[in-house]
Amino acid sequence: MEESTLTLPNENWPSIEAGWVWLCGAGPGDPGLMTLHAVNALRQADVIVYDALVAPEILDWARPEAEKIYAGKRGGKPSAKQVDISLTLVDLAQQGKRVLRLKGGDPFVFGRGGEEAQTLIQHGVPVRIVPGISAGIGGLAYAGIPVTHRDVNQAVTFVTGHDQTGEATKTLDWDALSRSSGVLVIYMGMKHAPSIRAGLMGAGRAADEPVAIVSQATTPNQKVLETTLGQMLDDIAKTEMGPPAIICVGRAVLMRQVLDWQALMRGEQPRNLDPLGRGKPAEVRD
Ligand code: SAH
Repeated sequence: MEESTLTLPNENWPSIEAGWVWLCGAGPGDPGLMTLHAVNALRQADVIVYDALVAPEILDWARPEAEKIYAGKRGGKPSAKQVDISLTLVDLAQQGKRVLRLKGGDPFVFGRGGEEAQTLIQHGVPVRIVPGISAGIGGLAYAGIPVTHRDVNQAVTFVTGHDQTGEATKTLDWDALSRSSGVLVIYMGMKHAPSIRAGLMGAGRAADEPVAIVSQATTPNQKVLETTLGQMLDDIAKTEMGPPAIICVGRAVLMRQVLDWQALMRGEQPRNLDPLGRGKPAEVRD
């Protein structure tokens, strides 16, 4: 079978102009989850300012002469301050460079992309935003967990496990969240997993409520822990689930018993074709 060659002709695709910053999502890890706009930007940028969560293979698509600046903020390595990152972007743009700011997942989802874009615009630097696949949606999909399902939830809530100071988020109203949302998707939740669990159980979520923890989602090192609210802390301690990880709370997690497509690709059988116990095929609706 002959394959088509995908080209992104710059006459029809937007080019980064000198002095512009493109703020692009790189997706959760698998380079194939980048958008075409982001790939197109990588091929043009003079300078790429990237985060810790951007997969190294992605940077290989840059022009060989492009300057790559690491602006990561992960524990262990020296952290760049947010103000320094934002002002670096302003400075590079004002030097007339074509700047690509590449962030993990989606830049506007718990990624401070809004702050960076605001700083750029306040300094008169023109910006283009390229959304990305967020870990809380795409990462869970790679684990076989749909964030919505008609038989499970009519709402999904994205929550951050810690606030700007790194402490457990104090402004979260766990009672309201628990009541309003069948499925909760928690970013940056591992450090404060005990208080998240306490908040949810204190608000009446059951100890046997399904929970999944997906670490390094969409990468070759992806790990998935299926557990329950009651058991999660013990199970996290037993398994080596390091960051970055997404915590998903709710019955959507049960769908993995049928939708773990990566297990099916390895030749395993589905564990349970009807994990919600509907008793009829999925295509038959009420
Ligand atoms: N803007 C990003 C989120 C940045 S906050 C996005 O839209 O995905 C960082 C948090 O994102 C991590 O603590 C973790 O909760 C989550 N995360 C990012 N990449 C991940 C991955 N590959 N696997 C699991 N969680 C991930």
